[in-house]
Amino acid sequence: MPTVADIADLLEARFRPDLAEPWDVNGLAVGDPSADVRRILFAVDPALAVVDEAIELGADLIVTHHPLLLRGVTSVASSTPKGAVVHRLISSGIALYTAHTNADAAAGGVCDALAAAVGVVDPVPLIPAGQAGAEGTGRIGMLAGPLTLGEFAQAVAGALPPTEHGVRVAGDLDGLVSTVAVVGGAGDSFLDAVRVSGADVYVTADLRHHPASEARELAELGDGRPYLVDVSHYASEWLWLADAAEHVADAAGVDVTVSTLSTDPWTARFSA
Ligand SMILES: [Zn+2]
Repeated sequence: MPTVADIADLLEARFRPDLAEPWDVNGLAVGDPSADVRRILFAVDPALAVVDEAIELGADLIVTHHPLLLRGVTSVASSTPKGAVVHRLISSGIALYTAHTNADAAAGGVCDALAAAVGVVDPVPLIPAGQAGAEGTGRIGMLAGPLTLGEFAQAVAGALPPTEHGVRVAGDLDGLVSTVAVVGGAGDSFLDAVRVSGADVYVTADLRHHPASEARELAELGDGRPYLVDVSHYASEWLWLADAAEHVADAAGVDVTVSTLSTDPWTARFSA
């Protein structure tokens, strides 16, 4: 039977730790590397509700995209949110492993999963990592055929797990799009790279008012592209879980479950 360390090795062969951003934290956060693993739950966030899901499933290990302990802490008392997660994991004998920005950058990682889901054929990195052709930040590529921005946004909405956030669009809904850039998770720091890339549309999450407004004003000086499609951060990264789970299930022969519990923080949406 594989151990927690064996599963970590499998994940690190596919999602290499050296691809992570320098500020990031990855790997085993909670648990015993020598413990046996029969069942793994894959989820975006190490939330308490996800730990409860793992307990119900009888999982020995949770693999998440987001780290539990990214910044320094001085307490993991169970009266704090993160401490409560640590306590419940340990008292339930469940380990927690994270693959964050290394999974974003890897071939077959978060951005490849997002690109494939929105219909990009043969995506390549938007910003390649070193000389390696298939690794790096974001992805860019062509759709099988041009769509209007409105058709494309509807297809994106259908490809992502449902959230109250939904899919927000900036640009002419009748404008045609062929080349698509994507960045899973918060993507407004890559707006310049997207503009330089010549993409017709940019799919990402957490676009803030000022960067998005400025990008649109610059785009309107030209032909209006790149248009913007802003999706839920959680949804943009959830798509990867199935690929990661399949990789581990095939290689280790353990039972895997992808959490469908939405950890998007927004729970309702109103409009006038
Ligand atoms: Zn994220």
